[in-house]
Amino acid sequence: MSPVKTTCAYCGVGCGIVATQTGARTATITGDTNHPANLGRLCSKGTHLGETIGLEGRLLHPEVNGERVSWDRALQAVADGFKATIAEHGPDSVAFYVSGQLLTEDYYVANKLMKGFIGTANIDTNSRLCMASAVAAHNRAFGEDIVPCSYSDLEEADLILLVGSNAAWCHPVIWQRIEAAREKRGTRLVVIDPRRTETAERADLHLAIAPDSDVALFAGLLHEMKARWKLDGAHMAQHVCVPEGFWDLSPVDTAKVCDIPQSRLEQLYDLFEAHPRTVTLFSQGANQSISGTDKGNAIINLHLATGRIGKPGAGPFSITGQPNAMGGREVGGLASTLAAHMGFGEAERERARRFWQSPTICPGPGLKAVDMFNAIADGRIKAIWVMATNPAVSMPDANAVRAALAACPLVVVSDCIADTDTSAFAHIKLPALGWGEKDGTVTNSERMISRQRGFLAAPGEAKADWWIISEVARRMGWADAFSYPHAAAIFREYAAQTGFENGGSRLLDISDKAQISDSDYEAMPPFQWGGVSPLASGRCSTADGRAQMVAVQVAPRTDADSRYPLRLNTGRYRDQWHTMTRTGLSPKLSQHRREPLVEVHPDMVARFGLDDGGLAVVSTAMGESVFRVASTDNQRRRELFVPIHWTDQTSGGGRAGLLPAQDRDPVSGQPGFKNTPAKIRIWQPRWTGFLVSKDVAPAPACRYWTRIRAAHGWLVELAGDGDPQGMLALLPEGQRAEVSDAKRGTVRAAVLADGQLQGALFLARNGGLPPRDWLIEQLGGEPASTVELLAGRPATAQADRGPIVCVCFDVGMKTILDAIRTAALASVEQVGAALNAGTNCGSCRPAIARMLETERSPVYA
Ligand code: SF4
Repeated sequence: MSPVKTTCAYCGVGCGIVATQTGARTATITGDTNHPANLGRLCSKGTHLGETIGLEGRLLHPEVNGERVSWDRALQAVADGFKATIAEHGPDSVAFYVSGQLLTEDYYVANKLMKGFIGTANIDTNSRLCMASAVAAHNRAFGEDIVPCSYSDLEEADLILLVGSNAAWCHPVIWQRIEAAREKRGTRLVVIDPRRTETAERADLHLAIAPDSDVALFAGLLHEMKARWKLDGAHMAQHVCVPEGFWDLSPVDTAKVCDIPQSRLEQLYDLFEAHPRTVTLFSQGANQSISGTDKGNAIINLHLATGRIGKPGAGPFSITGQPNAMGGREVGGLASTLAAHMGFGEAERERARRFWQSPTICPGPGLKAVDMFNAIADGRIKAIWVMATNPAVSMPDANAVRAALAACPLVVVSDCIADTDTSAFAHIKLPALGWGEKDGTVTNSERMISRQRGFLAAPGEAKADWWIISEVARRMGWADAFSYPHAAAIFREYAAQTGFENGGSRLLDISDKAQISDSDYEAMPPFQWGGVSPLASGRCSTADGRAQMVAVQVAPRTDADSRYPLRLNTGRYRDQWHTMTRTGLSPKLSQHRREPLVEVHPDMVARFGLDDGGLAVVSTAMGESVFRVASTDNQRRRELFVPIHWTDQTSGGGRAGLLPAQDRDPVSGQPGFKNTPAKIRIWQPRWTGFLVSKDVAPAPACRYWTRIRAAHGWLVELAGDGDPQGMLALLPEGQRAEVSDAKRGTVRAAVLADGQLQGALFLARNGGLPPRDWLIEQLGGEPASTVELLAGRPATAQADRGPIVCVCFDVGMKTILDAIRTAALASVEQVGAALNAGTNCGSCRPAIARMLETERSPVYA
């Protein structure tokens, strides 16, 4: 098959990929050397996309009330359900909850249907959870959602401030570009993050500030620059509007609010003063906060006042989490934007209606994500269509979302995955195309619009999201307005809308593409709207063309509460994506972290009597869940960190989403995921254990379990208080060998069929379980003897490679440390030359660098 140029399915970096199909559902994946976002680089997630395109777990046929039906019946059921609800309760009784995984063309059609034809703005996207605060900050400062920087600015900066961003894990190719720039021009790096992440470890200065003290930090930095006479008066006079009383704030003890030494703060001040070419890159750590919009504006204020904007290597730069969060922002996927960056003023609504030639138009903004699910809970919304996302896992207070969905009279889910925690509540399930099958455009964090192209045949009866939405719209009576033959026609209409009566009022204008031919759309290379530096002229989209500084609120530090003395932060792992529906299919990606860990400072481990490597219950006012304890001084003392990826499909426990409260930023409506009052207590189960199996086992009936892909099968970690013998039911059919010792509380069993190991179960009351990796290997070929299988070890001892660090070449931590020590390796490059580790995607290079650092400055207990 010919190679196809497309874009990565995951993060907002938007890397270009060359996919070459090698079989019905297999492909080789390489980085596109011509794509401006990545110039050939890919991280571990992008590199292993080929492992995730099989049909396992796919939704392949439409279903109504659990029964397979024809597309016609399913679409008619959706249209009838929405029409009847609107007829009885009005347009505001229905809603769409969509996703940054949709392509721009899908988003465009969904937005047009809801705002222009149904007549409500009750369409919101899971991007609300990711970067709505940055959107609100841009709108307040620039009069439009404009990202003023490009990736090339990172290569031209002398100082980069990374705020609330673990770029080495979450935006790895941006991180690689930063590392390359540092190597080349000695760019200084400051990381502002409560956690000492792999990103923070590589910084010249790490400020582990108290959660949600960023506004104080940036307001303090701005006032310090004023005190040092470092504001850019000429820039401000010409291009910036400063509200009256802006500088009259009572002084704040920044070091105290941020809980960092004054000397560290002075280092930041000196670095900032010395480097006019400064980029401040901010991400979810800043946005996912009840003061997220003020954080964004505090950062933008600093850049506006010091003239560090609209110039090479300078500016405030928000990066998005999802692959097409930006595309959604552009077309109006958020309840708070009408379409094509227009707001909800009378003239704008009428303009959108005329452009769409629609019978109606929404009267104003719609309900934002948290409010939308609350409206379902209290019965105001009676029909919801969830597209390509999993709010039953990812929303804050996720148990309340589940209760709302359970009570909702009509829940429609369109997704490529058959069984998700959200689709469990669906009355109608619609099979959508997945990555590698669908066709359209995406926009990355630097406003680069790229084609995502299909290279695999549509499986089963799966259809493009834009097709599904259009077919429902046709059945609701709007056939003419939704008669799109293909994605190119939608793109042309969207491009035309960006220029419709624009007259230079909005920077987003790609109307030069409104007449693009089908063949040119097919071949369309990546292009960046607004150019490399959209604010280079100093002119913004505000009424007077000047950027607006915004008075922000410096919130006092929130003190610990005696019931919940700790603070809970949630976030991502390096090699997993969202709820693991795709990355969870890859055995390679599943190796980096096999279980959901709660990271806890060692002092808190001691104080709360936890066991490093044992289990603990994390509780908030919303609920509780069990996690494996990882003791680390990378955490601030009173703070916990848990990952967002585990769901009911993959675990019983480890559910982060149910823990954060619904508290949200008053401007953006973005929830504050990263600072929830919490507590932790040890849980000592009666027994612990694990199962390795070739085929997926049923969900175990025990309090804690996690299931993850392993080479040739699955690894299930188990812990419970009930009768361990019940776990034997997890083993597959076959010839079983078993040794149990009721006195010592051990169960060891292995099942073979046709000479192949099908599964092995190990349970113990007092630990002492064998390592997992050797048993996992036995699933792959001729297994060892029964005696060895039941021992869980080969007769001859094997080298233990430790937890996997480099997933591309299966290199473990112990192997790397041994090589560093025995061969006196001194650099990441030398480790790569010796072991290959870090020489492919490069995602593990920060981890290798950390090991080299530790070896250079050993810490002895
Ligand atoms: Fe994909 Fe990784 Fe690039 Fe993000 S950095 S777009 S996950 S390859």
